[in-house]
Amino acid sequence: MTENVEILVQQKNYLASHETVGVQQRIDLLKKLKSYIENHEQEILDALYADFKKSHFEGYATELLVTYKEINLFIKKLKQWSRPKRVLPTLFNFPSLDYIYQQAWGQVLVIAPWNYPFQLAINPVLAAIACGNSVILKPSELTPHTAKILEQVLHAVFPKEIAYVIQGGAETSTYLLKQKWDYIFFTGSVPVGKIVAKAAAEHLTPVTLELGGKNPCIVDETANLAIAAKRIVWGKLINAGQTCIAPDYILVQKKVKEKLVKLLIQEIESSYTKHIDQSPDYPRIVNPKNFERLAKMLSNEKLLYGGQLIESELYIEPTLIDEPNLDSEAMQDEIFGPILPILSYTDFNEVEHSIQHFPHPLSLFIFSENATRAKQWMQQFEFGGGIINDTIVHFVNDRLPFGGVGNSGMGQYHGKHSFETFTRKKAVLHRKTWIDLPFRYPPYGDKLNLLKRVKSWFT
Ligand code: NAD
Repeated sequence: MTENVEILVQQKNYLASHETVGVQQRIDLLKKLKSYIENHEQEILDALYADFKKSHFEGYATELLVTYKEINLFIKKLKQWSRPKRVLPTLFNFPSLDYIYQQAWGQVLVIAPWNYPFQLAINPVLAAIACGNSVILKPSELTPHTAKILEQVLHAVFPKEIAYVIQGGAETSTYLLKQKWDYIFFTGSVPVGKIVAKAAAEHLTPVTLELGGKNPCIVDETANLAIAAKRIVWGKLINAGQTCIAPDYILVQKKVKEKLVKLLIQEIESSYTKHIDQSPDYPRIVNPKNFERLAKMLSNEKLLYGGQLIESELYIEPTLIDEPNLDSEAMQDEIFGPILPILSYTDFNEVEHSIQHFPHPLSLFIFSENATRAKQWMQQFEFGGGIINDTIVHFVNDRLPFGGVGNSGMGQYHGKHSFETFTRKKAVLHRKTWIDLPFRYPPYGDKLNLLKRVKSWFT
């Protein structure tokens, strides 16, 4: 820990000069980061595969492409975003020039999860650095190969006073959370999110919490079922269901349930064949603890498909559970694996009842050809981000803010929203001295009457 303490101190000392290093140098650092990642793509993809058999295609699409996109955007826009923005002055302060400065927070702590272990760590880090902060990153200990490569990348590209990786698990996080930070960015589970929020409160540190939840996927009787099945299976089984925004359970209109289930099974098999355990595209569960947690959800349930478990390989077959009770193991908490409960409804009250049974989710999906109804449901429910007629792809558009509400998190990021997260708006007013109207100064005498008469000028 001594080395870590020294790094924290060095980072603090570096801050003043870092902001003065200027936007152009930060852009140069981002270019260096991009080219370093490009030159080490194979190692990164191999690390992801070694951690939980994530295929190279999924690794490239969901970890590298989104990272390149974010770097390119910051390279293109950072100068424009960083400029002080002039706002209209008020008559009361005449004459003045009024600005909003974009100010880096300072020292940022990023704590990352294991499920998209590269991009969920590096994207907040690169955004924070681009904004002029310095960062300590603690990657997840559950994906050690990727954690190592993250350390290699960040230490090769940035001076350690700007970015430094500290490896470890909960104990290391606890140590880090005891320090005073200017901002904390946490991605992970709800229980640990609460620990982070409490630690941040101790120093009144602002915090972003990117958490999880039970994401409903509604399929009504008007839905295009073939498309729904394709898009649900894809969004659920990418990363073997270990995706914070994946559909957690389906709420399907009773009339179309049987047909949807048939199409879901067809779609699973056309994506991964009947021998899913042999598919090169299907990842594994990250560790034995999560494997056991998921396996427990299958006991005492009626299965419509799947259920095969190979413990030695941490393999869980894509599994459809039929009409689980809301109190069952699978419906207690976020599933975060390739298990999909299917609940049917006959009228809207049942949909409402199921969704409101759980805290606000991170995402919500509706498959319907009835646009009015779908939009009404989008409006009515509380969730982080939602899609009509698809799953998870809202993540791809960095113009959309990404984050949860209530139990699924607070704060948002991606693209310009990341810039806004990692900077603070600072008000700066430049008064002129060529005139100094005496009106505001005492003695006030009968100025009150005059003030009342010109009230509308100021309000
Ligand atoms: P986790 O909360 O177990 O761990 C996240 C990080 O916190 C890790 O770095 C871990 O070492 C650290 N940590 C663990 N215990 C800690 C403690 N007691 N004190 C301090 N730090 C601690 O989460 P996970 O298993 O890595 O990730 C899965 C969860 O993350 C799911 O709930 C998922 O929904 C959520 N998630 C959310 C998003 C999002 O963007 N909203 C993205 C990915 C994952």
